[in-house]
Amino acid sequence: MPVVSVEEDPGPPSSVPPLRVAVVGAGPAGIYAAEALTRQDDVPVAVDLLDRLPTPFGLVRHGIAPDHPKMRAIRDTLHRALDHPSVRFVGNVEVGRDLDCADLARTVDAVVYTYGAALDRHLAIPGEELPGSLAATDLVAWYTGHPDADRARVEAALAGARSVVVVGVGNVALDVARVLARTPAELEPTDMPQHVLDALAAAPVGSVTVLGRRGPAHATFTTQELRELDELAQATVLVDPADLELDPAAEERAAADRVVSRNLAVLREWAGHTLEPGRTPLRLRFYTRPVRLVGEERVTGVEVERTVVDAEGRASGTGELEVLPADLVVRSVGYRGSGLPHLPLDERRGTVPNEGGRVLRDGQRAPGEYVAGWIKRGPTGVVGTNKHDARETVAALLEDVAAGVLRPGRGGGDDLVSELRANGADPVLLEDWRAIDAAEVALGATRGRARTTLHEWESLLAAVKEAAARAR
Ligand code: NAP
Repeated sequence: MPVVSVEEDPGPPSSVPPLRVAVVGAGPAGIYAAEALTRQDDVPVAVDLLDRLPTPFGLVRHGIAPDHPKMRAIRDTLHRALDHPSVRFVGNVEVGRDLDCADLARTVDAVVYTYGAALDRHLAIPGEELPGSLAATDLVAWYTGHPDADRARVEAALAGARSVVVVGVGNVALDVARVLARTPAELEPTDMPQHVLDALAAAPVGSVTVLGRRGPAHATFTTQELRELDELAQATVLVDPADLELDPAAEERAAADRVVSRNLAVLREWAGHTLEPGRTPLRLRFYTRPVRLVGEERVTGVEVERTVVDAEGRASGTGELEVLPADLVVRSVGYRGSGLPHLPLDERRGTVPNEGGRVLRDGQRAPGEYVAGWIKRGPTGVVGTNKHDARETVAALLEDVAAGVLRPGRGGGDDLVSELRANGADPVLLEDWRAIDAAEVALGATRGRARTTLHEWESLLAAVKEAAARAR
């Protein structure tokens, strides 16, 4: 990347048009990409930060659990990038519906795709589609007030949920288990929509069991998230001490990885727990994989098989079967990225083929097309991981500018927002988002909360229209 000294070089004359960049997806990866673009002096930029929702923040808003307010507060930091004068938030615009990748390529000079990995992975076992079986993505979308959440399906599944089984031992599984095991009083101050709080309060959850198909040394949850399970008001974490006896390969893994050894230390503290009457058992079971969801009209149980794990960390079944009672099964086995019209996708990995963030078409770099975040590297890492990831992508983009592959005016089209409006779309800009934000704060205040998430398209867009009408 060329380094321009401010003292030696007065910078480009103001008549030089900025490099116009569209970032598709206003989650952490998109916002960090916008931030990296505005925090360099090599090239003046104008960034349009697009999102299909009328709200920014992606998984910070609709992923991080609402009972993690400190983590969710990262939106205040992310907001600084949205407030930058060279960045324009353009919400309520869906690539594939309101415009496609070819339209973008014609209009702007470069596109950075950061639209994440929104689909759920499947278990591919019989019974998976029975009522009472949900993907974690469905449940998380619902409890964070995503406007596309399938309310009826989730609430019907929860209504009879006495025994809950969560499949997977990643951080999303722990989020789901924790939220379901919390008392209404613990959830009351969160920004969950009122109907979510009411449905969770009414759900008869009496036990939560989390299943890991491999041993505790292979769990992907992190220690802080694990430890929190033992801080719940009414639930007691139970772990079978036999699951914590490690073979030499697992011992080696624990010795080499601090997160694994810390997780094991926490789990060992809990091995002596006993369940006091009146408390909800939250069981962590390892070496257990689901083979079938049992039930006719809805899930009544999960048939599981005991596994063994080989030295390479692969789990295989032992043939030892058992049926665990379950009225609600939540599969939390990872996310998967999907394609966009005219954008290549590696179906197996669920990512857009790329080289350090440069999109590859038929193995060749596609000038002006970049990716960052989960759609670039897959669904791993915490929010902050996207900062480094987005910086790598933006560095590649700026290298392409320096090499003459990209130049301002290359796209040559009209203003993106004007084009969208001319085509009948209804983009939501930063001021409109501020109106939604204010409406959520006002709604929360009616019940003494800091905020309540607006969960319907109608109410989100009504907040925008009402603010516009007041301003006239
Ligand atoms: P994940 O960490 O990849 O966990 C997926 C889990 O599903 C693993 O335990 C995996 O086990 C299991 N699994 C996959 N296929 C399975 C199958 N067929 N049968 C049984 N189990 C199966 O993914 P995630 O929990 O969805 O999280 C995604 C990312 O978001 C992670 O990087 C996570 O750390 C991050 N996140 C962070 C936070 C936080 O920081 N608080 C909160 C939520 C999410 P195997 O390992 O055996 O495949």
